[in-house]
Amino acid sequence: MKKTQLFLLLLGMSLSIKAQMVSIDSLMKHVDLFSSDNLKGRLAGTHGYEVAADYCVAYFEQLGLKKLKHASIDDYNQSFKVESNEISECSVSVINPDGKKYSLKLGKDFVCRGFTGSGSGLVDLAFCGYGQNKEDYNDYRGVDIAGKAVILFKSNPPFSAPDSGWGEFSIRRQVAVAKEKGAVAVIFVSRPNLANPQKPIGSTSHGEGVHHADMPQFQIDIPWVDSLLSGTRYPLERLDRLTENLKMPFSLSAKSKIEYKVSAHYSPAADTRNLLAYVEGSDPVLKDEFVIVSAHLDHVGSQGNLVFPGANDNASGSSAVLELARLISTAEKKPARSILFVLFSAEEKGLDGSTFMAQNLPLKKEKIVAMYNMDCIAFGDSIQIGNGLSNPNLWNKMKEIDKKNANLMTDRTWGGGGADLTPFHQIGIPGLYVATTYSYTHLHLPTDTRQSLNTKTYKEVVNLLYQTLIKD
Ligand SMILES: [Zn+2]
Repeated sequence: MKKTQLFLLLLGMSLSIKAQMVSIDSLMKHVDLFSSDNLKGRLAGTHGYEVAADYCVAYFEQLGLKKLKHASIDDYNQSFKVESNEISECSVSVINPDGKKYSLKLGKDFVCRGFTGSGSGLVDLAFCGYGQNKEDYNDYRGVDIAGKAVILFKSNPPFSAPDSGWGEFSIRRQVAVAKEKGAVAVIFVSRPNLANPQKPIGSTSHGEGVHHADMPQFQIDIPWVDSLLSGTRYPLERLDRLTENLKMPFSLSAKSKIEYKVSAHYSPAADTRNLLAYVEGSDPVLKDEFVIVSAHLDHVGSQGNLVFPGANDNASGSSAVLELARLISTAEKKPARSILFVLFSAEEKGLDGSTFMAQNLPLKKEKIVAMYNMDCIAFGDSIQIGNGLSNPNLWNKMKEIDKKNANLMTDRTWGGGGADLTPFHQIGIPGLYVATTYSYTHLHLPTDTRQSLNTKTYKEVVNLLYQTLIKD
């Protein structure tokens, strides 16, 4: 089926629903499209993201939504440039000291980091703790890593105070130091002694710095890193414990080897876009004020044959923006204020799209009375609304509405923004962060599929938003 035919079919299906009720069928049709293999994980700056964005634009057009006029906006698009990296091939094998070779399973045993470089090799290994080369804490002292792959914990040490020169942990910084020391590849691993060590996840969050196109970068699961350390008498758990207790580096050469091959295509400034569309308010005066409903449309892409579907993160929130746009634009009595629907790009890279919009605000800041950002809203069985400590009025109002409806909202909240809300919070726009409790179980894992979603909770979250918007 052609792309346009598919769009029209899906649009027809969801637009034919007339009733003023949240339609889970309509929501899940959008989710299915966004999380399908064809869209390859919706990485900002790639074709997969553009297909998702085209679909949303077509939907806004069908609904007859209005376009904002601003220097940064063309049609429904607010375009900007983004760093992007498409990974077409990746494989890793472990060769133990006894010569036995094991091919690791992509997506389970290992993943590439989103901004991995390309390269191939069969190389020796060294473990270098936290990859630091500070004057008073040098993980590289006394270990020869020239031509080797280096294994690093994917964090700063637990005893590193942020104000004592450790800085914030950044993948890019660790890779830059490793390269400077002569390493040819970097293997990140979670600390095994944490309560919930992170599994290998798809991630494009690398921090600031130079892209090293010749440095393959992986995250490998703890048992396989232990396999890489076999024969050294220092399993990862022991290395973690030693460095934590002694507060000093404990680096060593490994006896296994690693074989790898990665092909990635890096674009320093690929095209991408936020999408903005609005429904005008019904009150002649209040319509100049706006309520923003937003979600990020992008996800972390694909690697070889592995696609990160991102059904909960954040096909769920993006689809909710479309469904709320349908409900509000077809409501008999529109809200008094105008409602601006926004889909952000490049959240996964580090809030690039929302930061760009906050810096190129197409409305007067004073005219934005509230912002509801939805991120991961379809997993788990209760609703969690963040930033309530910063905006108790908005939070209390939503709590009241929830009490009369599904009564699924927990009392837990926090302040200071969160995800795409943060850049807006920082410039003084009041907002709430809408999520579901335990929404991060499948975060950035291949298991974040539409099958794992709780459609009952999902429908109630979207209804809570709808009830809140319609009464505004
Ligand atoms: Zn995410």
